[in-house]
Amino acid sequence: MKGKVYLVGSGPGGIGLLTVRALEVIKKADVVLYDQLPGREIIAALPDKAERIDCGKYGGRHTLRQEEIEEIMVDRAGAGRQVVRLKGGDPFLFGRGGEELERLRQEGIAVEVVPGVTSAVAVPGCAGIPVTHRRYASQLTVITGHEDPDKPESGLDWEVLARLRGTIVVLMGVKHLPLIAQSLMEHGKDAQTPVAVIERGMRQDERVTVGTLSNIAALSGERGVKPPAVIVIGGVVSLYREGEPGLCPDRG
Ligand code: SAH
Repeated sequence: MKGKVYLVGSGPGGIGLLTVRALEVIKKADVVLYDQLPGREIIAALPDKAERIDCGKYGGRHTLRQEEIEEIMVDRAGAGRQVVRLKGGDPFLFGRGGEELERLRQEGIAVEVVPGVTSAVAVPGCAGIPVTHRRYASQLTVITGHEDPDKPESGLDWEVLARLRGTIVVLMGVKHLPLIAQSLMEHGKDAQTPVAVIERGMRQDERVTVGTLSNIAALSGERGVKPPAVIVIGGVVSLYREGEPGLCPDRG
């Protein structure tokens, strides 16, 4: 059989939010490269015969460098294997799936993309915060809070972001949350704009911290907020109600 790489989104948590197609390709995989984010249940669903390669980041250190991950995919697919590259959420929303696609194209390797349920939408949703709502937001902007340090200048235009009237969702934003809140306020965003930080969304131990742009950095500091977390900024946060785990019983 000809080798192929499947760029697969594993969803934001439990196996229930893995797509049917994702489960199909996972079940016939010869090699699975996974990050730290897929839930344990999903890891447990991998076939016994499959070679498992942990590409996760631990405490900021990558087990494997990006180039090494790409090399392994190219090598195994080149040898005729069915390779599943499992990524948290959707494979193309941050997380370097786009670079992997470019590399595989360059090498002439067959690729299939299996989209996933993204944490940017699902984590707020399961916490009871719809990312759009007719009364609060007609627009959704998803940004990274973790700019590539190699970039000569920020890819984010804070002036524009501060002017947006819709919802802003920040992924990978815990470390820079004080800076993000500060930049938005400095560029004119209302200091009273509601903000929610959802840690370990859709897991058993999910925790939500709600505040405003002016106090969210201090609140998060006091509560020792840690990644992974999804940050939601905007009026939709006022729809949040504490203690509704029943909205999303399928937790990873
Ligand atoms: N491709 C992924 C995002 C990769 S970036 C997706 O579509 O969801 C990794 C970031 O996603 C984390 O830093 C965090 O901001 C967010 N994230 C992913 N899963 C999460 C979860 N279960 N709870 C909270 N944040 C999560």
